[in-house]
Amino acid sequence: MATFKAIRIDKAERGQTVGLVDFDENDLMEGDVTVAVEWSTVNYKDGLALTGKAPVVRRFPMIPGIDLVGTVETSSHPEWKRGDRVILNGWGVGETHLGAYAEKARLKGDWLVPLPEGMRGREAMAIGTAGYTAMLCVMALQRHGLTPADGPVIVTGAAGGVGSVAVTLLAKAGFHVIASTGRPQEAGYLKGLGAAEVIDRAELSAPGRPLGKERWAGAVDAVGSVTLANVLSMTKYGGAVAACGLAGGMDLPGSVAPFILRGVSLLGIDSVMCPQPRRREAWKRLASDLDRGKLAAIASEIGLADVIATGQAILDGRVRGRTVVRIASGVQD
Ligand code: NDP
Repeated sequence: MATFKAIRIDKAERGQTVGLVDFDENDLMEGDVTVAVEWSTVNYKDGLALTGKAPVVRRFPMIPGIDLVGTVETSSHPEWKRGDRVILNGWGVGETHLGAYAEKARLKGDWLVPLPEGMRGREAMAIGTAGYTAMLCVMALQRHGLTPADGPVIVTGAAGGVGSVAVTLLAKAGFHVIASTGRPQEAGYLKGLGAAEVIDRAELSAPGRPLGKERWAGAVDAVGSVTLANVLSMTKYGGAVAACGLAGGMDLPGSVAPFILRGVSLLGIDSVMCPQPRRREAWKRLASDLDRGKLAAIASEIGLADVIATGQAILDGRVRGRTVVRIASGVQD
């Protein structure tokens, strides 16, 4: 019996159990490409899956982990051959399909994206789903027509994964970035990534008025709930808000005033089922636009055995930036 190391979640009488196990290769799910996994990451959604705090996992047993970089071992898909280095994120991997926290994954070739030329596997996972989602947000704001001349852009949940990459990308694109964080001790870190101003997230967390003073032309919101309602209420005439997260809650207790009186647009961002052309464009732009030195400052590294504890830490808001997971010692960078 061929086995490999994996984190496995099993259903228990009450809740779930999670542990590092030897997983039988015969129990992998269907797919036309088998990948030797080298790097993964811990995203907020992985934290929800690992702790069972939200029903992310919809099949048991499950190998969690929603994104990975690896090398193709076998393929019957026309686009991929042995030795290709690939990125996978989304498509229900780690939710309905066995995922990334394992030395091996069997996947659909249609889900894969080539690792961009010149990007290391470790760097791709330092970006991960969170960074790629930040790029989707920036692309949505730019499609709306937002430019630095229109005014500042606010990023909420700024010291988190999506937030850190969004701050970096927007600053590089020339925007005056306002970083909103609940961790004032991270002000130096955020300014290092390019934030022009750092504000306390408490300014946005109490219920506000339907329309506030116009403070920014655009926003990347990873928090949702009252924070998103307040961000909308303070967005300038004709501005846009890219909403991708729910770290502060899933509700949206606001009014339509910003939409009907200021022509503000709310742009929804989904990374999971995002169609391939936009996905590939996002990864290409990450390869060219994201400062690798800043990316290194955002990322810290753990091993497979540390994933479970990190899942809890990210939900507790104790993780700064991005966490990359080295799946096995000796994997190539
Ligand atoms: P992180 O945990 O790394 O970042 C979230 C940040 O939100 C925290 O660091 C914290 O920032 C802030 N935050 C946490 N709790 C609260 C709270 N109660 N009130 C206000 N702010 C809070 O997670 P990620 O960056 O990986 O993900 C961010 C969000 O985006 C998550 O909700 C995630 O599910 C979502 N997401 C959605 C995707 C999509 O496809 N739409 C894809 C990827 C992520 P600080 O300490 O700076 O205040």
